[in-house]
Amino acid sequence: MPKKYHIDVKPNPLGFDRVSKFRLVREDVCINCGKCIKVCIYEVHKKREDDPRKMADPIHLECRNCFRCIQECPRGALVKCITDEFKNLGDSYWKPEMILSIWQQAEDGKVPVSGAGYRGPFTGPGFDSMWTDMSEIVRPTRDGIHGREYISTSVDIGRKLSHLVFDNEKKLQSQIPKTVDLPVPIIFDLTLYDTNEKSKIFIAKAAEKLNTLLILKADDINEELQKYANNVMPLISQSTIEENPALIKNSKVVEIEYSDELKNNFQEISSAIKKLSNAVLSIRIPASPEVENSVSELSKAGAECIHIVADYYGMERGESNPRFIKDVLAAVHQKLIENSIRDEITIIASGGIAMAEHVPKAIISGADVTAVDIPLLLALGYKLNQNPEIPIIPPNSMPALEEKGAQRIVNLIGAWHSQLLEVLGAMGMREVRRLRGDIGRAIFFENIDAETFGEIFKKK
Ligand code: SF4
Ligand code: SF4
Repeated sequence: MPKKYHIDVKPNPLGFDRVSKFRLVREDVCINCGKCIKVCIYEVHKKREDDPRKMADPIHLECRNCFRCIQECPRGALVKCITDEFKNLGDSYWKPEMILSIWQQAEDGKVPVSGAGYRGPFTGPGFDSMWTDMSEIVRPTRDGIHGREYISTSVDIGRKLSHLVFDNEKKLQSQIPKTVDLPVPIIFDLTLYDTNEKSKIFIAKAAEKLNTLLILKADDINEELQKYANNVMPLISQSTIEENPALIKNSKVVEIEYSDELKNNFQEISSAIKKLSNAVLSIRIPASPEVENSVSELSKAGAECIHIVADYYGMERGESNPRFIKDVLAAVHQKLIENSIRDEITIIASGGIAMAEHVPKAIISGADVTAVDIPLLLALGYKLNQNPEIPIIPPNSMPALEEKGAQRIVNLIGAWHSQLLEVLGAMGMREVRRLRGDIGRAIFFENIDAETFGEIFKKK
């Protein structure tokens, strides 16, 4: 059995204040009996150090909202209320709960515990309109992250052959193209947002520890970042190939910006890169109407990997009626199947990947690999801004992170990896590769809605 991929998570506090969802108030009727200390396993309640006869203020950030202390307090002295800071966090897509959850996962690397149960709606826009198959969850001891059976989360980037050719002596004639193995279907992308130098280094270090890749603009890769060349995927344009021979030579995967001419001169561009290096070439293309046709043409021309990039809400860019990334991926996947070429090419998806569950959902929709951006920055203490031009702003006290920065990213991906294993275990699946495009593993609200009410509300 191959060695299990293990992510070494370690508790790693942010080092500066973060927002708490609830404020726990101890009212004057408290009789300092200490029962809340005994019932709270998260040590939110403590006695005062200067006067152990009295209760100290609750440590809000440690509270997991299980409500047990509130229920068990003999005097009804504990009250919870939602803080204004929490209400003002994030926006309609990057909801406050998501941001707090990302912070917590970066802090401890553990699968998040919501405690008080889920009280929200069971469907919504985007990835919330997909429900994944958990039919094997009734047998949780059989598998999952603590089980004995091996679940593989590894994927590869590159072109695969549709079949092998042997000569009369049964010797392999086919040339096997180079692929790059990743132990987890998650890479990092820092090309869209203005990030400071320290953040790039933290994330590059984390990519190295996790054995994954970080996409950076070629111009941003300075001497310090070149130390991580094995895990950095430079983003170049057709016109800058000649300016970056060393970067291309040292990289395992190179990403190139899409342009309409690329469909016509793909062979020429690909040869120019292959002359410098045997790196896999990924084409970065914005999610837009008809993207499936461009992907199809590029695949037929021999493309190895295509990275489809949606905006930070996961939507197609600049469209009045944009599709969400899951629908774009489904259209691309379907088009490639129609052209009998789906298994030969790698599809990377990015934009709107905000939670661990979005990774398997993007894969079910048709991606092989997901690229994550904003959650990495949130893990480092960045804040979402209400300005779409500058959607994310760095923390004031980045130096406080220093050596902790990379570990916070490792923790976040450790927690996402554990959740991916749980999802695969609950589906009874042993390999994430087999999940790609397997839409039978999910129920889509749109389909149920159409099946149930389509006939009734159909336009006459
Ligand atoms: S259980 Fe209630 S009364 Fe007792 S110390 Fe806690 S808050 Fe006070
Ligand atoms: S709600 Fe639960 S986690 Fe929070 S302080 Fe009370 S017992 Fe502890």
